[in-house]
Amino acid sequence: MIRFGFMIALWVGMCLVGAAPALAWELNLPTGNRSIFSGDPSDFYMYTDRNFEGVKSQPWTAGQYGFVRDQKRTAAGVIMTKFHEGLDIKPVKRDERGIPLDLVYPISAGTVVHVATQANQSSYGKYVVIRHDWPEGPFYSLYAHLMEARVSPGARVGPQEVVGRLGYTGEGIDRVRAHLHVELNLLLSDRFESWHASRFQTPNHHGNYNGLNLVGLDLARLYKERLQDPALTVAAFLSRERVHHKIRVAARGKLPLLARYPFLLQRAESGRPVAWEIHFNQSGVPLAVHPSSVSTKDPVVTWVEPSKTYHAYLTRGRLSGSGSTATLSASGLSYLSLVTGQF
Ligand SMILES: [Zn+2]
Repeated sequence: MIRFGFMIALWVGMCLVGAAPALAWELNLPTGNRSIFSGDPSDFYMYTDRNFEGVKSQPWTAGQYGFVRDQKRTAAGVIMTKFHEGLDIKPVKRDERGIPLDLVYPISAGTVVHVATQANQSSYGKYVVIRHDWPEGPFYSLYAHLMEARVSPGARVGPQEVVGRLGYTGEGIDRVRAHLHVELNLLLSDRFESWHASRFQTPNHHGNYNGLNLVGLDLARLYKERLQDPALTVAAFLSRERVHHKIRVAARGKLPLLARYPFLLQRAESGRPVAWEIHFNQSGVPLAVHPSSVSTKDPVVTWVEPSKTYHAYLTRGRLSGSGSTATLSASGLSYLSLVTGQF
Protein backbone atom coordinates (compact mmCIF):
# COMPACT_ATOMS: atom_id res chain seq x y z
CA MET A 1 0.00 0.00 0.00
CA ILE A 2 2.82 2.36 0.95
CA ARG A 3 4.60 1.32 -2.22
CA PHE A 4 1.41 1.95 -4.27
CA GLY A 5 1.08 5.41 -2.70
CA PHE A 6 4.67 6.11 -3.58
CA MET A 7 4.03 5.06 -7.21
CA ILE A 8 1.03 7.40 -7.39
CA ALA A 9 3.12 10.25 -5.98
CA LEU A 10 5.87 9.49 -8.49
CA TRP A 11 3.34 9.44 -11.35
CA VAL A 12 1.77 12.75 -10.24
CA GLY A 13 5.26 14.20 -9.89
CA MET A 14 6.19 13.08 -13.40
CA CYS A 15 2.97 14.59 -14.77
CA LEU A 16 3.82 17.90 -13.11
CA VAL A 17 7.33 17.80 -14.53
CA GLY A 18 5.82 16.91 -17.90
CA ALA A 19 3.44 19.86 -17.69
CA ALA A 20 6.18 22.35 -16.88
CA PRO A 21 7.41 23.03 -20.44
CA ALA A 22 3.90 24.21 -21.44
CA LEU A 23 4.32 27.07 -18.97
CA ALA A 24 7.75 28.08 -20.22
CA TRP A 25 8.08 31.16 -22.35
CA GLU A 26 10.83 32.18 -24.67
CA LEU A 27 12.42 35.58 -24.82
CA ASN A 28 13.96 36.59 -28.14
CA LEU A 29 15.54 39.71 -29.57
CA PRO A 30 13.12 41.61 -31.83
CA THR A 31 15.54 42.30 -34.74
CA GLY A 32 18.70 40.84 -36.25
CA ASN A 33 20.83 43.07 -34.02
CA ARG A 34 22.35 40.73 -31.39
CA SER A 35 25.18 42.95 -30.14
CA ILE A 36 23.59 43.24 -26.68
CA PHE A 37 25.11 39.84 -25.90
CA SER A 38 28.54 40.39 -27.39
CA GLY A 39 30.84 43.05 -28.63
CA ASP A 40 30.38 46.77 -28.41
CA PRO A 41 27.12 48.04 -26.84
CA SER A 42 27.35 51.06 -29.16
CA ASP A 43 26.56 48.59 -32.00
CA PHE A 44 23.31 47.67 -30.25
CA TYR A 45 21.98 50.94 -28.81
CA MET A 46 21.11 53.98 -30.91
CA TYR A 47 22.70 57.18 -29.57
CA THR A 48 20.90 60.44 -28.86
CA ASP A 49 22.18 63.94 -29.59
CA ARG A 50 23.14 65.49 -26.25
CA ASN A 51 24.05 69.07 -25.39
CA PHE A 52 25.02 69.41 -21.73
CA GLU A 53 26.30 72.82 -20.65
CA GLY A 54 27.36 73.54 -24.24
CA VAL A 55 29.23 70.24 -24.71
CA LYS A 56 27.76 68.21 -27.57
CA SER A 57 27.97 64.43 -27.67
CA GLN A 58 26.20 61.36 -29.08
CA PRO A 59 26.13 58.84 -26.19
CA TRP A 60 24.93 55.29 -26.97
CA THR A 61 24.19 54.97 -23.24
CA ALA A 62 21.07 57.13 -23.75
CA GLY A 63 19.56 54.30 -25.84
CA GLN A 64 19.48 52.02 -22.79
CA TYR A 65 16.57 51.44 -20.41
CA GLY A 66 16.62 53.61 -17.31
CA PHE A 67 17.45 57.14 -16.20
CA VAL A 68 19.77 57.78 -19.12
CA ARG A 69 18.82 61.26 -20.40
CA ASP A 70 18.59 64.95 -19.44
CA GLN A 71 21.64 65.57 -17.27
CA LYS A 72 21.33 67.94 -14.33
CA ARG A 73 23.98 69.30 -11.99
CA THR A 74 22.68 68.76 -8.45
CA ALA A 75 23.83 68.52 -4.83
CA ALA A 76 24.23 64.80 -5.49
CA GLY A 77 26.47 65.42 -8.53
CA VAL A 78 25.52 65.24 -12.20
CA ILE A 79 22.52 62.95 -12.55
CA MET A 80 20.17 61.88 -15.35
CA THR A 81 16.61 62.98 -14.69
CA LYS A 82 14.72 61.63 -17.70
CA PHE A 83 13.61 58.03 -17.74
CA HIS A 84 13.70 55.93 -20.93
CA GLU A 85 11.23 53.07 -20.73
CA GLY A 86 12.59 50.86 -23.51
CA LEU A 87 15.65 49.84 -25.51
CA ASP A 88 16.57 51.79 -28.67
CA ILE A 89 17.95 49.17 -31.03
CA LYS A 90 20.07 50.22 -34.01
CA PRO A 91 19.24 48.90 -37.47
CA VAL A 92 21.75 46.49 -38.99
CA LYS A 93 20.50 46.76 -42.61
CA ARG A 94 19.96 49.88 -44.71
CA ASP A 95 19.50 50.44 -48.44
CA GLU A 96 21.76 52.76 -50.46
CA ARG A 97 19.66 55.79 -49.41
CA GLY A 98 20.02 54.92 -45.72
CA ILE A 99 16.47 53.65 -45.31
CA PRO A 100 16.45 50.92 -42.62
CA LEU A 101 15.35 47.48 -43.78
CA ASP A 102 15.34 45.49 -40.51
CA LEU A 103 12.25 43.40 -39.86
CA VAL A 104 10.74 43.35 -36.37
CA TYR A 105 9.65 40.09 -34.67
CA PRO A 106 7.79 39.47 -31.38
CA ILE A 107 10.07 39.02 -28.37
CA SER A 108 7.81 36.12 -27.35
CA ALA A 109 4.69 34.42 -28.73
CA GLY A 110 1.51 36.35 -28.05
CA THR A 111 -1.59 38.12 -29.31
CA VAL A 112 -1.57 41.49 -31.06
CA VAL A 113 -3.78 43.80 -28.98
CA HIS A 114 -3.08 47.20 -30.52
CA VAL A 115 -1.78 48.62 -33.80
CA ALA A 116 -1.27 52.39 -33.96
CA THR A 117 -1.22 53.18 -37.68
CA GLN A 118 -1.20 57.01 -37.44
CA ALA A 119 2.36 58.20 -36.85
CA ASN A 120 1.26 61.54 -35.38
CA GLN A 121 -1.01 60.21 -32.63
CA SER A 122 1.77 59.65 -30.07
CA SER A 123 5.52 60.10 -29.60
CA TYR A 124 5.86 56.37 -30.38
CA GLY A 125 4.85 57.01 -34.00
CA LYS A 126 3.47 53.83 -35.58
CA TYR A 127 3.52 51.12 -32.94
CA VAL A 128 2.30 47.62 -32.09
CA VAL A 129 1.48 46.10 -28.69
CA ILE A 130 1.51 42.31 -28.13
CA ARG A 131 0.09 40.57 -25.05
CA HIS A 132 2.02 37.61 -23.67
CA ASP A 133 -0.02 35.31 -21.42
CA TRP A 134 2.75 34.11 -19.15
CA PRO A 135 2.04 32.09 -15.97
CA GLU A 136 2.37 35.18 -13.75
CA GLY A 137 -0.06 37.31 -15.71
CA PRO A 138 -0.34 39.27 -18.94
CA PHE A 139 2.77 41.17 -20.01
CA TYR A 140 2.83 43.56 -22.95
CA SER A 141 5.64 44.17 -25.42
CA LEU A 142 5.59 47.38 -27.44
CA TYR A 143 7.40 48.07 -30.73
CA ALA A 144 7.63 51.75 -31.65
CA HIS A 145 8.82 54.10 -34.44
CA LEU A 146 7.89 51.47 -37.04
CA MET A 147 8.01 52.31 -40.73
CA GLU A 148 4.96 50.11 -41.06
CA ALA A 149 3.05 47.52 -39.04
CA ARG A 150 2.35 44.17 -40.71
CA VAL A 151 -0.09 42.69 -38.20
CA SER A 152 -3.67 43.39 -37.11
CA PRO A 153 -5.29 43.34 -33.67
CA GLY A 154 -6.37 39.85 -32.64
CA ALA A 155 -3.63 38.05 -34.59
CA ARG A 156 -1.74 35.30 -32.77
CA VAL A 157 1.96 35.72 -33.50
CA GLY A 158 4.84 33.33 -33.03
CA PRO A 159 8.52 34.21 -32.90
CA GLN A 160 8.96 33.81 -36.68
CA GLU A 161 6.13 36.18 -37.65
CA VAL A 162 6.96 39.69 -38.82
CA VAL A 163 5.34 42.42 -36.71
CA GLY A 164 6.52 45.27 -38.91
CA ARG A 165 9.55 47.10 -40.22
CA LEU A 166 11.97 49.24 -38.21
CA GLY A 167 11.59 52.93 -39.03
CA TYR A 168 11.67 56.49 -37.77
CA THR A 169 8.06 57.53 -37.15
CA GLY A 170 7.24 59.54 -34.02
CA GLU A 171 8.81 62.38 -32.11
CA GLY A 172 12.49 63.39 -32.14
CA ILE A 173 13.67 60.81 -34.64
CA ASP A 174 14.91 60.92 -38.23
CA ARG A 175 16.35 58.55 -40.82
CA VAL A 176 19.88 58.75 -39.37
CA ARG A 177 18.66 57.87 -35.87
CA ALA A 178 16.11 55.28 -37.08
CA HIS A 179 15.74 52.56 -34.45
CA LEU A 180 13.34 50.14 -32.85
CA HIS A 181 12.14 51.27 -29.43
CA VAL A 182 11.04 48.08 -27.65
CA GLU A 183 9.46 47.80 -24.20
CA LEU A 184 8.18 45.03 -21.95
CA ASN A 185 5.40 46.25 -19.69
CA LEU A 186 2.89 45.62 -16.95
CA LEU A 187 -0.60 46.99 -17.67
CA LEU A 188 -1.72 49.33 -14.90
CA SER A 189 -5.48 49.66 -15.42
CA ASP A 190 -8.19 48.16 -17.60
CA ARG A 191 -10.25 51.35 -17.09
CA PHE A 192 -7.58 53.63 -18.51
CA GLU A 193 -9.97 55.46 -20.83
CA SER A 194 -12.05 56.87 -17.97
CA TRP A 195 -8.87 57.81 -16.04
CA HIS A 196 -7.58 59.62 -19.14
CA ALA A 197 -10.90 61.36 -19.87
CA SER A 198 -11.03 62.78 -16.35
CA ARG A 199 -7.53 64.32 -16.67
CA PHE A 200 -6.90 65.34 -20.26
CA GLN A 201 -8.76 67.44 -22.81
CA THR A 202 -7.00 65.66 -25.68
CA PRO A 203 -8.38 62.42 -27.11
CA ASN A 204 -6.83 59.04 -26.27
CA HIS A 205 -6.36 57.13 -29.54
CA HIS A 206 -4.90 54.00 -28.00
CA GLY A 207 -7.44 52.56 -25.56
CA ASN A 208 -5.71 50.73 -22.69
CA TYR A 209 -2.49 50.60 -24.74
CA ASN A 210 -1.56 54.25 -24.27
CA GLY A 211 2.05 54.48 -23.04
CA LEU A 212 0.84 56.12 -19.80
CA ASN A 213 -0.92 52.87 -18.87
CA LEU A 214 2.08 50.64 -19.55
CA VAL A 215 4.95 50.52 -17.07
CA GLY A 216 8.23 49.25 -18.49
CA LEU A 217 10.48 46.60 -16.97
CA ASP A 218 14.27 46.48 -17.44
CA LEU A 219 14.22 44.38 -20.60
CA ALA A 220 18.02 44.44 -21.08
CA ARG A 221 18.56 42.96 -17.62
CA LEU A 222 15.87 40.35 -18.35
CA TYR A 223 17.62 39.32 -21.60
CA LYS A 224 20.93 38.90 -19.80
CA GLU A 225 19.55 37.07 -16.77
CA ARG A 226 17.37 34.76 -18.89
CA LEU A 227 20.45 33.79 -20.89
CA GLN A 228 21.96 32.55 -17.60
CA ASP A 229 18.69 31.04 -16.34
CA PRO A 230 16.10 30.27 -19.08
CA ALA A 231 13.49 29.37 -16.41
CA LEU A 232 13.75 32.74 -14.64
CA THR A 233 10.27 33.99 -13.69
CA VAL A 234 9.14 37.61 -13.79
CA ALA A 235 8.50 37.46 -10.02
CA ALA A 236 12.08 36.33 -9.33
CA PHE A 237 13.36 38.96 -11.75
CA LEU A 238 11.38 41.77 -10.09
CA SER A 239 12.33 40.59 -6.60
CA ARG A 240 15.89 41.72 -7.42
CA GLU A 241 14.81 45.29 -8.30
CA ARG A 242 15.76 47.85 -5.65
CA VAL A 243 12.85 49.27 -3.66
CA HIS A 244 13.07 53.06 -3.86
CA HIS A 245 9.91 54.16 -2.07
CA LYS A 246 6.84 52.74 -0.31
CA ILE A 247 3.36 54.23 -0.43
CA ARG A 248 0.43 53.34 1.83
CA VAL A 249 -3.09 53.74 0.46
CA ALA A 250 -6.49 52.96 1.95
CA ALA A 251 -7.82 49.56 0.88
CA ARG A 252 -11.10 50.17 -0.90
CA GLY A 253 -11.95 46.63 -1.91
CA LYS A 254 -9.62 44.49 -3.96
CA LEU A 255 -6.73 45.96 -5.91
CA PRO A 256 -7.37 45.27 -9.61
CA LEU A 257 -3.59 45.12 -10.10
CA LEU A 258 -3.45 42.05 -7.81
CA ALA A 259 -6.11 40.28 -9.85
CA ARG A 260 -3.88 40.73 -12.90
CA TYR A 261 -0.55 40.10 -11.16
CA PRO A 262 -1.22 37.96 -8.05
CA PHE A 263 2.52 37.42 -7.52
CA LEU A 264 2.79 41.02 -6.29
CA LEU A 265 0.86 40.17 -3.10
CA GLN A 266 3.51 39.44 -0.51
CA ARG A 267 1.61 37.47 2.08
CA ALA A 268 -1.86 36.00 2.45
CA GLU A 269 -4.41 38.32 3.99
CA SER A 270 -5.63 37.42 7.47
CA GLY A 271 -8.87 39.28 7.72
CA ARG A 272 -9.53 42.27 5.55
CA PRO A 273 -6.59 44.72 5.28
CA VAL A 274 -7.46 48.38 5.87
CA ALA A 275 -4.60 49.60 3.71
CA TRP A 276 -2.08 48.49 1.13
CA GLU A 277 1.59 49.37 1.23
CA ILE A 278 2.93 49.33 -2.30
CA HIS A 279 6.68 49.10 -2.94
CA PHE A 280 7.96 50.84 -6.06
CA ASN A 281 11.32 50.98 -7.76
CA GLN A 282 12.76 54.35 -8.74
CA SER A 283 10.92 54.57 -12.06
CA GLY A 284 7.55 53.60 -10.56
CA VAL A 285 7.33 49.87 -11.30
CA PRO A 286 5.18 48.28 -8.55
CA LEU A 287 7.35 45.52 -7.05
CA ALA A 288 5.25 44.27 -4.16
CA VAL A 289 1.96 44.88 -2.34
CA HIS A 290 1.79 44.32 1.43
CA PRO A 291 -1.58 44.24 3.24
CA SER A 292 -1.48 46.70 6.13
CA SER A 293 -3.50 47.11 9.32
CA VAL A 294 -2.58 50.80 9.62
CA SER A 295 -5.50 52.90 8.46
CA THR A 296 -4.77 55.72 6.05
CA LYS A 297 -7.10 58.39 4.72
CA ASP A 298 -4.92 59.88 1.99
CA PRO A 299 -2.01 58.14 0.28
CA VAL A 300 1.23 58.63 2.21
CA VAL A 301 4.89 57.95 1.42
CA THR A 302 5.97 55.71 4.31
CA TRP A 303 9.59 55.32 3.22
CA VAL A 304 11.93 56.71 0.56
CA GLU A 305 15.56 56.01 -0.20
CA PRO A 306 17.38 59.03 1.28
CA SER A 307 18.73 61.46 -1.30
CA LYS A 308 20.98 64.53 -1.32
CA THR A 309 18.98 66.01 -4.16
CA TYR A 310 15.28 66.54 -4.88
CA HIS A 311 13.27 63.34 -5.08
CA ALA A 312 11.49 64.89 -8.08
CA TYR A 313 14.67 64.51 -10.17
CA LEU A 314 14.93 60.84 -9.25
CA THR A 315 11.27 59.81 -9.60
CA ARG A 316 10.08 61.42 -12.84
CA GLY A 317 8.54 64.19 -10.74
CA ARG A 318 6.24 61.89 -8.79
CA LEU A 319 7.73 62.57 -5.34
CA SER A 320 8.56 65.96 -3.80
CA GLY A 321 10.99 66.80 -1.01
CA SER A 322 14.55 65.64 -0.36
CA GLY A 323 16.56 63.77 2.25
CA SER A 324 14.65 60.97 3.94
CA THR A 325 11.17 62.49 3.66
CA ALA A 326 8.97 62.73 0.61
CA THR A 327 5.41 63.56 -0.36
CA LEU A 328 3.44 62.68 -3.45
CA SER A 329 3.31 65.42 -6.09
CA ALA A 330 0.16 66.02 -8.14
CA SER A 331 1.54 63.80 -10.88
CA GLY A 332 2.52 61.20 -8.27
CA LEU A 333 -1.03 61.13 -6.90
CA SER A 334 -2.39 60.86 -10.41
CA TYR A 335 -0.06 57.95 -11.21
CA LEU A 336 -0.92 56.22 -7.95
CA SER A 337 -4.64 56.45 -8.74
CA LEU A 338 -3.96 54.56 -11.97
CA VAL A 339 -1.96 51.92 -10.09
CA THR A 340 -4.61 51.42 -7.40
CA GLY A 341 -7.69 51.89 -9.61
CA GLN A 342 -8.95 54.49 -7.11
CA PHE A 343 -10.26 57.15 -9.49
ZN1 LIG B 1 13.34 54.91 -27.12
